[in-house]
Amino acid sequence: MGERERLAMMNGGTPTPTLEPVPVECPPAGDVLPLCKLPLACESCGIALDAATLSRQLYVCDCDNHFRMGADAWVALVADGGSWCPHWSDLCARDHLDWQEPKPYASIIEQATRQGLDESVWSGTCTLAGRPIWLCVFDFRFLGGTLGAVSGERLARSIERALNDDMPFVLISASGGARMQEGVLALLQMAKVNGAVARFQSGGQPFLSVLTNPTFGGTAASLALLADINIAEPGAAIGFSGARVIKQATHIDLPPGFQSAEFQLAHGQVDMVVHRHELRQMLAHLLRLHT
Ligand SMILES: [Zn+2]
Repeated sequence: MGERERLAMMNGGTPTPTLEPVPVECPPAGDVLPLCKLPLACESCGIALDAATLSRQLYVCDCDNHFRMGADAWVALVADGGSWCPHWSDLCARDHLDWQEPKPYASIIEQATRQGLDESVWSGTCTLAGRPIWLCVFDFRFLGGTLGAVSGERLARSIERALNDDMPFVLISASGGARMQEGVLALLQMAKVNGAVARFQSGGQPFLSVLTNPTFGGTAASLALLADINIAEPGAAIGFSGARVIKQATHIDLPPGFQSAEFQLAHGQVDMVVHRHELRQMLAHLLRLHT
């Protein structure tokens, strides 16, 4: 008996759907990834980097080192060309606590805004291989992709709208955790987005989470690792506290590759590690399986 027949028997005789992936262009036709800020040389192989060349390689070095991308590049990679529709761009960060150390929060927000950065989470709708989805993307360029009141609100609203619209929710994370400049207001976002995820998972649509380098702290401890399928990029650092802090607290030597995507896969924390060149194809395939 073949694998398909065996699965059909387990499924009460109902034939299982074909699992062959559909061909998906990557990046979408007509789109070029926006230029990303890169180090002068690859920290893995030492080769000098050229942003224009790497853009064509989806910001993956010849040695397979995956460089961090901004939210604009991620949207260009994941969304079908011309399908991205941002939501709640009018929500802006505020310095509610008059935070001054080590630098006034108000001036940090002002500087980021001048650079055209739009909070640490982009939220909106798009299609992926023709399928409408809600998509949220962390942008590490805005205060290290930290989770604050506005980013938490955009995430919670997106997840709730995905539930109401009966659409899949896809998250791409790159975050240092909760934003210290917003204190408890930032920590509250963990409970808020987790509540939204719990309600979403009472529906029938999938939640797919892509964890990129790095995903840490309150973001990893809340929604980023709560998806139906948690996908990590190769070599991504994923955890709660950093290895140095853990070593100082526990006084033990940590195992090789501690907190890498591959380590987390081996220990059941993520479900798969997918190369960026195959990610769009994989997301389209997983969404199709849930149709
Ligand atoms: Zn390299």
